[in-house]
Amino acid sequence: MPSPATVPPGSDAGVAVRLRGVTKTYDNGVAALGPIDLDVRKGEFVSLLGPSGCGKSTALRLIAGLSAASSGLVEVSGDQARNKSIGFVFQEPTLMPWTSVRENVRLPLKLAHVSPDEASARTGGALAQVGLREFADAFPRELSGGMKMRVSLARALVTDPDILLMDEPFAALDEITRFRLNNDLLALWRNLRKTVIFVTHSVFESVYLSQRVIVMTPRPGRIAAEFRIDAAELRAEEFRTSPEYAGYCRDVSVALARASGEKLAS
Ligand code: ADP
Ligand code: MG
Repeated sequence: MPSPATVPPGSDAGVAVRLRGVTKTYDNGVAALGPIDLDVRKGEFVSLLGPSGCGKSTALRLIAGLSAASSGLVEVSGDQARNKSIGFVFQEPTLMPWTSVRENVRLPLKLAHVSPDEASARTGGALAQVGLREFADAFPRELSGGMKMRVSLARALVTDPDILLMDEPFAALDEITRFRLNNDLLALWRNLRKTVIFVTHSVFESVYLSQRVIVMTPRPGRIAAEFRIDAAELRAEEFRTSPEYAGYCRDVSVALARASGEKLAS
């Protein structure tokens, strides 16, 4: 059994998200998740990697407070205002089609009753962070899939959350666009130092992005293995073609296959 993916006791100050014995069983009786023990440190980039239906989205929704755990403890630092400390990027960009990029990004500030001047400044800042300043007046239908996802990311960043939860955000994009967004996301993470919990079913994406990859079992998702990716933080395309990257990907793939109960050719 792997040891639980937790930070040693006494280092609480650095913990952004803590799960203890967390399970989720839906009303229809589907046991979707857990039990799971997991600590994510402040500023850390962690991926949850697992097969479709293993409870990854469920885990993010519990952390975001969008749904309640059936048992166990979900703690988020700055928990008093969880909706302010967390930004959520969904798999679909979920933009309002009838209004501009700018208004889409501004929406969370409007809902939080931020003054119009401050909202304008912060919206402009968030659009600049994702490289969409010139597209502020465009409508979602005028944008490519990658650009829509950038809008969605800007909307999550505009409230300056401490924690960014990302649910397979790039899964629907072509590979070149996905690689570009991976690099841009890493640059943002380095600059902004947010805690990122990134859900994916791609071994390659999880290894490229993360400091730590958490491999989950099929439903109900539990933690099967954990990998620390000790590559330089300044990852770029060279990393994708390095032997180091290939080695990590192989190890994580093997763990994922084992967790899924597949028989491996030795
Ligand atoms: P993943 O994101 O890893 O694909 P999910 O967290 O979406 O997995 O779902 C885990 C399991 O829980 C799946 O079997 C799914 O069908 C089920 N599930 C998800 N949401 C609900 C819900 N609201 N009600 C009932 N079952 C659900
Ligand atoms: Mg999902």
